[in-house]
Amino acid sequence: MELRSRRLVGATIPPGANDPVPTEVEVRWDPLTGHSSRILTAAVQLIPPQDFDLAAVAEETRAGCPFCGERVDELTPRLPPEVWPEGRIRRGEAVLFPNILTYAQHAAVSVYSPHEHFLPLDRMTHRLVADNLWTQVTFVRAVSERLPEPAWGSVNANHMLPSGSSLFHPHLQGSVDPVPTTMQALLARGADGRFEKYLEAERLAGPRYLGSTGRIEWLASFAPIAPGELRALVPGACSPADLDDDAVEELGAGIATALGLYAELGLQSCNMALYGAPSGTAGYWLNLRIACRSNLRPLYRSDATYFERLHWEGAVDLSPEDLAERAGDRFRR
Ligand SMILES: [Zn+2]
Repeated sequence: MELRSRRLVGATIPPGANDPVPTEVEVRWDPLTGHSSRILTAAVQLIPPQDFDLAAVAEETRAGCPFCGERVDELTPRLPPEVWPEGRIRRGEAVLFPNILTYAQHAAVSVYSPHEHFLPLDRMTHRLVADNLWTQVTFVRAVSERLPEPAWGSVNANHMLPSGSSLFHPHLQGSVDPVPTTMQALLARGADGRFEKYLEAERLAGPRYLGSTGRIEWLASFAPIAPGELRALVPGACSPADLDDDAVEELGAGIATALGLYAELGLQSCNMALYGAPSGTAGYWLNLRIACRSNLRPLYRSDATYFERLHWEGAVDLSPEDLAERAGDRFRR
């Protein structure tokens, strides 16, 4: 598989100079979806270092938080008994319940812990992530089994401001529908051996291949649609429902590792999607994308510009190769 890219060269005359100097930007195309991305060389970092006091926002929002302590049992909805007789799915500290905002035919929210109102990226442990992921995988499985049509399941996160979360308390969101999202449909269209070819191409190329944690492969995305984008590929699974307990542990550990890397890079907020297709979709590999958001500060520059929102093209100044170098060997078992 060819990893397609093109360098675009222009020219400008800098202030105070007389002669033009060349300018350059690289456009890349994602091998799985065709989504385009530009890798920029910015004079000033697009995401400046964090200086926003998230802990203060945590304190401001704690008192009225419906996910904190015993309030989670009083103020959140319950699953119908045919889906889960106990009403809420629990594992370790994690608790899953239906999303009060109906984003999907079956939509769930799960908190890492009712006792953890504030979980900055460097406090996201393997245990917290794996247990919470388990509740979502169990939800997707329980709902998918009851759906009369093929189920498109996903597990997602808006972590910390400004990721899009309406409640501060850290949580995951799961979704199961009889129809795919735009990205699930694009990824499933690539289910013609493209996942395998992509992994093989990146393994051979080297600089963006981060390693295997056993059954799960990690990469820095060749053509990121968002800053700091990492990808996990899970050969042998199509839906989150296909993950056995060992695979959930392994993926949970990988996600916690990715969050730790972001914390080291001085980032505070991220989004994640584990894109499922119906179980048994030929050639499909369950896959995950995780990427950063801008660090919050007054008048901060959003990472979602006309490029991302309206052209569906990423524009990042942290190159995938530099990201992979920063990741080092942490995803290799
Ligand atoms: Zn809370």
